[in-house]
Amino acid sequence: MAENIEAWWARRQRSKERDVPYEIGAYRTEWERYPVLVRQYHPDLNRNITLTQIPPAAEVYLTWQCDAGHVFVATPDEQRHRPGGVRRRSSWCPDCLALAAPKRIVNRQLPVDQQAAPDARRVGPRSAVGGVPPPRPTSTPPTSTPPTHTSRTHSPPTRTTLAAHPAGEAFHSGRAPRPASAAEGDLRSRLAERLDIDLRAANAVQVRRPFFAHREVWPDIVLVELKVAIEYDTIGKFGLEHVGTREATDRRKDRLLREAGWEVIRVRCGKLRPLGGFDLVAGGVTAPLIERILERLREIRGDLIVNAYLR
Ligand SMILES: [Zn+2]
Repeated sequence: MAENIEAWWARRQRSKERDVPYEIGAYRTEWERYPVLVRQYHPDLNRNITLTQIPPAAEVYLTWQCDAGHVFVATPDEQRHRPGGVRRRSSWCPDCLALAAPKRIVNRQLPVDQQAAPDARRVGPRSAVGGVPPPRPTSTPPTSTPPTHTSRTHSPPTRTTLAAHPAGEAFHSGRAPRPASAAEGDLRSRLAERLDIDLRAANAVQVRRPFFAHREVWPDIVLVELKVAIEYDTIGKFGLEHVGTREATDRRKDRLLREAGWEVIRVRCGKLRPLGGFDLVAGGVTAPLIERILERLREIRGDLIVNAYLR
């Protein structure tokens, strides 16, 4: 008989006579086989107990959140036995599965305003590592909803229409400059080949204090799910970029990101020296550089979570 997580944890504390009945990492090998579940599991939805502290056979109700933002409750066993195997992500979320169904009978029987919103159970999307929601405009239900639905109040507003975001939230900003260099584009596409993360989902992060005119910064590459920004720094055609007073600006930008719960990896090219502890000195965009960035991401967020996003 499955229990809620508080009851389950308390019972294990009693039986093991320890405050922490299972150490962090105890079941990591077992969970590594289920990257989709690693991505759906968020400690902040589960009393800050990490997935690696939960035996995969535990009879406990856990709260999960799919990539589209649906929040649902299921035991580890239910999750591991979802139909459809490991590849199609929608088969791991009951709400996505329902939305993917070819016919939605409820829709045709009830007027639009009497339907439950398909995402009614949604508590709000969040990123994998923090409590901060990433932008998920695609979580709005697709085509089967009649057009009138768009004007209904129960339709969640797309986040890009909001004037402000909570600090640490990544979003798409119309103010952000377009990607500057070919090398930056190359870096983005090579990372996209390795990581199952939409690198175009956001181009800005809300910060707590103004950076120039706005409380937002525009990193070159925004890894929403990992809350890591990647900057590709070169001295530019005239040798003036990222040097002198511009270095202070870079440092300030990094500080603001860290204050908002993000981490920064700067790829420093040419003669530029590292600014932060995770920065990498490189001669250009190469395969080894991509591996070094992945290694940095593992240092920052842990290999369990980063490997769960590998393609
Ligand atoms: Zn879902």
